[in-house]
Amino acid sequence: TPRVFSGIQPSGNLHLGNYLGALKRFVDMQGPEMETVYCMVDLHAITVWQDPKELAHSTRELCAGFIAAGIDPEQSILFNQSQVPEHAQLAWIFNCVARMGWMQRMTQWKDKAGKNQQNASLGLFAYPSLMAADILIYHATHVPVGEDQKQHLELTRDIAIKFNNDFGVNFFPVTEPVIEGAATRVMSLRDGTKKMSKSDPSDMSRINMTDDADAIAQKIRKAKTDPDALPSEIDGLEGRPDARNLINIYAALADQSVEQVLADVGGKQFGEFKPMLAELAVAKLSPISSEMARLMNDQAEIDRILARGAERARAIAEPILRQTYDIVGMVSSA
Ligand code: ATP
Ligand code: MG
Repeated sequence: TPRVFSGIQPSGNLHLGNYLGALKRFVDMQGPEMETVYCMVDLHAITVWQDPKELAHSTRELCAGFIAAGIDPEQSILFNQSQVPEHAQLAWIFNCVARMGWMQRMTQWKDKAGKNQQNASLGLFAYPSLMAADILIYHATHVPVGEDQKQHLELTRDIAIKFNNDFGVNFFPVTEPVIEGAATRVMSLRDGTKKMSKSDPSDMSRINMTDDADAIAQKIRKAKTDPDALPSEIDGLEGRPDARNLINIYAALADQSVEQVLADVGGKQFGEFKPMLAELAVAKLSPISSEMARLMNDQAEIDRILARGAERARAIAEPILRQTYDIVGMVSSA
């Protein structure tokens, strides 16, 4: 059976971009034809500073978010990355396979390190190598992600190919990115040319999964737009990134195509469209946020789910690491 792997960082509030670009699609892929492995990537989160208490809280809240969105912890394997040490162990091997130049070309590295690269953590630089290990330690074949992770997935393929070539084996699969849907790149509500992110300092830039109905409505009301009416065809969104973003969000939340949405709302002003969008967003998100809050009342249960998930994940990861070490020439007594 094909195996799906994906992860989300417990680096802050889960937002609408994570939900539409990742989480909602993780739920869609869950089923008897696929083995699904989903991870809270805490080792990735600490590539930038995380307050320890907040990291622990975000990890549990993220776990609650997965379950509230529809991930069944019996059917899928749900765990946090640090509890399966094989991720970090395989990442070290990949650090020795990947080249400095490959990492230097990554746009996420350039964006997150900013101007002062000398002061960024070594972990942030090596992030894509750990991400390749996350995927390949399960020999995962399908990786659902948002558009922003496309470059890292190409690098994962390059690492798998170079490892296989260097050692003359056909061991790691060449992974397929699954970047699909109307909202593979949800943009900031304050700037339609920038991705919606957990790490954006402006809370008005994103809709958090924990926002209440008033906060959601206010953020949509204040979202940046242009003065024109909405077009009735897709071409009319050309050069209008903020309008395009709100339409994409509407389409993804309503499970409609952008064409369908525009056929309905074409000609309307934003003053009329925004309340429609707010109502739809509240209807879709509030059941998830109230379920998240409910699950967070029993943190011991969340910890049990994570522990059980880690155990199941290790059962897959451990033999693959052992075979990798063997290929590389590490002597073992086993
Ligand atoms: P950070 O700012 O800390 O990097 P993030 O918001 O980018 O946080 P991640 O945990 O890095 O979130 O990403 C988790 C998943 O969500 C990835 O598959 C990523 O592609 C997807 N994703 C993140 N932001 C968006 C977005 N704005 N639109 C669609 N998908 C997104
Ligand atoms: Mg990110």
